Amino acid sequence: MQLLKRQFGKHFVDLLNKSPSLTADIKEMRKRGIRVRRSSRLAEAYACCNTKIITIGKKNASTVYQLINLAHELEHLLRGLVKGNDHKKLSLKRFVQRSLREETNCYVRECQIMDELIAAGVKIPDFLLKRYQKYYRGGWQGIRKKVLKDQVCFEANTTYPQLFAQQYDEMSMMK
Ligand SMILES: [Zn+2]
Repeated sequence: MQLLKRQFGKHFVDLLNKSPSLTADIKEMRKRGIRVRRSSRLAEAYACCNTKIITIGKKNASTVYQLINLAHELEHLLRGLVKGNDHKKLSLKRFVQRSLREETNCYVRECQIMDELIAAGVKIPDFLLKRYQKYYRGGWQGIRKKVLKDQVCFEANTTYPQLFAQQYDEMSMMK
């Protein structure tokens, strides 16, 4: 936690400590040698399973949003269903399906962490609260529907199924 405190500040770590699930994930993250980087250029976040680095954007991103993004990317790296070289063994269809399931799990995880933060009295930014209320009510299935039709936030005019199909093609070209 000391390192995270240096990177993200005391407020971030104080909020993180209010979520037992996320605190447990951070322990596991250290054990597996996953590192976190911050970027002032982005508002969003992403993870790379080959380098085991999670990048969290801090541009216009509130502390709670960064925390939720960290929870999302940790779900990918700690319990992800699609690994770096999966395109070699999986058909395009299986790869896309598995990626969609993984993405859904990440949004479910976001909702679980928000549950814990809300229970601990943390104020959640409005847009996140809306996302939470809109999708979590539908449970896993509702969230899966969102993942199927929503645009990917960092790629204009692209849905998740399109994004994963693109990734599959790109990885297959790299061999
Ligand atoms: Zn994701």
